[in-house]
Amino acid sequence: MHLTGSCLCGGIGFELDGWASPVQACHASRCRKATGALYSPEVAASAAAFRWVGDEGLIRQYDAPILHEPPAYRRCFCDRCGSPLPVVIAEAGIVILQAGILDGTAELPVFRHAFVGQKSPCCDITDGLPQFDGQPPAPDPSVLLG
Ligand SMILES: [Zn+2]
Repeated sequence: MHLTGSCLCGGIGFELDGWASPVQACHASRCRKATGALYSPEVAASAAAFRWVGDEGLIRQYDAPILHEPPAYRRCFCDRCGSPLPVVIAEAGIVILQAGILDGTAELPVFRHAFVGQKSPCCDITDGLPQFDGQPPAPDPSVLLG
């Protein structure tokens, strides 16, 4: 599928043509801090199909202290406007992005909830989708969107 996205100021964006996962609602406390949202709407996509568009000099990176084992929890964001930017995980061949920075009306449904054990008491999950107390397994290839 063809997806585009950009930060709030428009200084840096991206596009990709390849597979993408539906949205994983991640309730981990670190993801809630990083996004300022009750949960982080995460999309995984092919790193091979991803490219930055715009001023890559605006990309900033933060590696949080390691809690259990490497790699560090990494966040990328726009230096000018603070929007969360995709994080390329080269060794895994994937990029993780927040669905809210996608342009237009890409139809990516939520398909599961991760780290429900850390969810905000403000967030009631009522959609009946699968819930995982911690990190779920990699999504089955059959759920990926072409
Ligand atoms: Zn920006």
